[in-house]
Amino acid sequence: MTAIEAIEALLAEELMLRESRRIKTALVMARLSTIKTLASFDFSFQPSLDKNRIMALAELEFIDRKEVVHLLGPPGTGKSHLSLALGVQAVRAGRSVYFSPLTDLVSALAKAEREGTLREKIRFFCRFALLIVDEIGYLPVIPGGGNLFFQLVNARYERGAMILTSNRGFAEWGEVFGDPVVATALLDRLLHHAVVIQIEGSSYRLRT
Ligand code: ADP
Ligand code: MG
Repeated sequence: MTAIEAIEALLAEELMLRESRRIKTALVMARLSTIKTLASFDFSFQPSLDKNRIMALAELEFIDRKEVVHLLGPPGTGKSHLSLALGVQAVRAGRSVYFSPLTDLVSALAKAEREGTLREKIRFFCRFALLIVDEIGYLPVIPGGGNLFFQLVNARYERGAMILTSNRGFAEWGEVFGDPVVATALLDRLLHHAVVIQIEGSSYRLRT
């Protein structure tokens, strides 16, 4: 190896190190704590799911188009796995991402409201190119929570992409948010530039 080649190899390694450090930090910032990947998703287990549609989403153009991706289906069908994997993909591509279960997101907004910092909190959640909201429908939303979530969705509307996962159909959102008027207003924004992916299948957790 010549001296120049050695220096080039060292620089390449340094770049790779720096890149992996950047990704690690960004994953922590994004709250993508359990790392799931598309490579580790067994599409053959979920035949109702069109692999091509998921791989198309992994190209991340939906983020540039500021679309809302809905992943719907019963428990254990891979909604969280796929949303995390798409989040990891986006982080690798240098996009800013934030992942949160709906309950935590609403709690954070409610706390900010009590402390008089709701506007700042909404601005914080608007900074991310991709906001992933997991587990809509598992737990009832706290009173006033639907209203707070609406304010965030409205602030991000046509400005940033989202991935939402839910085990409940849209018709049940009135019940989920404890308020049919808020649910209608939410769905009006969240279905405008939207991709809806319905997974029908059995739970991977209960596979034999
Ligand atoms: P959901 O969010 O729809 O309830 P999860 O995405 O949390 O389901 O999936 C439950 C568990 O099963 C997770 O550990 C996930 O990684 C795994 N899993 C689900 N579907 C698949 C699949 N098709 N291939 C590989 N692992 C899967
Ligand atoms: Mg889940």
